[in-house]
Amino acid sequence: MPPSPFAPTPRVAVPMAALTAVLTAVLSAACSTTPALHPGSSHPPGPLPEARFDARTLEAQLRFQAADELMGRLTGEPGADVAARFIAEHFRAAGLRPVPGAEDYAQPVPFLRTVPPAEAHLALFDQTLRQGDELLVLDGPPIDAEAEAVYAGHGLPDDYDGLDVAGKIVVVRAGRPGDGNVQAALRAAAEKRAAAAEHGALALVELYRGALPWPTLVSYLSRPRLALDEAPPAASLPHLWLHDSDGTYADRLQHGQGMPLALRSGGFRRIRVTSRNVLGWIEGRHPERRHEFVVLTAHYDHLGAGRANGPGATPADSIFNGARDNAMGVVAVLNAAYALAAVPPDRSVLLMAFTGEESGLLGSRYYTEHPLLPLDQMVYALNVDGAGYSDTSAVTLIGLGRTTADPLIRQGAATFGLDVIPDPAPEQNLFDRSDNVHFAARGIPAPTFSPGFRAFSDPGVAHYYHRPTDEANDDFDFAYLLRFTQAYTHTARLIANAAERPTWTPGDPYEAAARALYGTQ
Ligand SMILES: [Zn+2]
Repeated sequence: MPPSPFAPTPRVAVPMAALTAVLTAVLSAACSTTPALHPGSSHPPGPLPEARFDARTLEAQLRFQAADELMGRLTGEPGADVAARFIAEHFRAAGLRPVPGAEDYAQPVPFLRTVPPAEAHLALFDQTLRQGDELLVLDGPPIDAEAEAVYAGHGLPDDYDGLDVAGKIVVVRAGRPGDGNVQAALRAAAEKRAAAAEHGALALVELYRGALPWPTLVSYLSRPRLALDEAPPAASLPHLWLHDSDGTYADRLQHGQGMPLALRSGGFRRIRVTSRNVLGWIEGRHPERRHEFVVLTAHYDHLGAGRANGPGATPADSIFNGARDNAMGVVAVLNAAYALAAVPPDRSVLLMAFTGEESGLLGSRYYTEHPLLPLDQMVYALNVDGAGYSDTSAVTLIGLGRTTADPLIRQGAATFGLDVIPDPAPEQNLFDRSDNVHFAARGIPAPTFSPGFRAFSDPGVAHYYHRPTDEANDDFDFAYLLRFTQAYTHTARLIANAAERPTWTPGDPYEAAARALYGTQ
């Protein structure tokens, strides 16, 4: 475990006067590159801990989080638990207070992993179709049955008028009338399953003819999936997709009501998995504003290891180390913990590292659905997450212009010589694609602080994003990691010290949620 940034390091065995001279030189270097954006409001970081972060300590923290031994930190796997433990012990070392309900700095998060059957067969028209070829089991228990086929249009509730499907296999078109694309089909799946189950069907087979290539769909949908284990399982019956590339099956089944089908499937396995969000807090110094919290968040999970887990995996390297995504964010939050605990700001600070982000923002969703501190006391959330960087003279702020904290964010970055780039890829909808969105949806102003990039197609992003190349090796810019972490920490401090709490920019889509949460914007 690397040392705390504040532990005396034997390497710096210099007299205090010499140390002060070095610090002064470092600080004046940082300040000389600082544009005077806000004359009068800017106070130099002076002796603040973020000005003294040790580059080698941050490098060691990042190398640990992104190490091959953690096997890509897949939610529910031991590598992710080790990553969580590392963060919790740093929170302890920094002196963070545990949040009631998160003893040992951990909020347990219950997950359900569903694993598709290895084998399934559907026999019709003297052919046998197999799982992974023309057939894809989407859900449901095991089945081994012969039954009549009943064609039921799109399989929506109205399509069952006048049909008797009890004990039969319902065959329907995927999607909705006029919309056969895969997203529409997946969104409609629960409603269709419920309708089929309600009418006593034995199984539901959808005929897929969408634009997304079938092999892509098979590779994506035949992987194990992770979901929060919260609701009782919805109507569950064997639910399959059949690739109907030219509409032949739809034609023949529509005109062949009652024809026999034979269906066999091993069914989905459901495995309970527990993971954890890691959190702790720092009490603010101001007599009133200490009841308000600034929330600092980063996800620590990543994609795991294995060639099925993403593009770019080879037999030589199939570990998705996630150095940029999001070991960088974890390092930023860890060191913010040390710096803000050492010199607390006016407001209190809640620091959190989330599990399950890569599986669908699940850890942060679970926290906002099961908050351990009242959400209406959380006045601002600054998430940190990223795909990569291509401009190390800046940070990219996903959500710049959407909250009134922009001047503080610019000041925090400028203090460490960094510019701020607004969301360069609005078409990617990045604001709603990281953990910040669950806070935003509750009304809490919550942008995401990212390493600097100007386009999602920048080589510094595209070459690494969700690929095994995203490693802590010689390609990685550790000098930038230092300034990025300093800028994040100092921005958090400025927001936590601001006399006025920042709000959404008037007219923001999340403004109404803020009014509902706080009673006022
Ligand atoms: Zn990420």
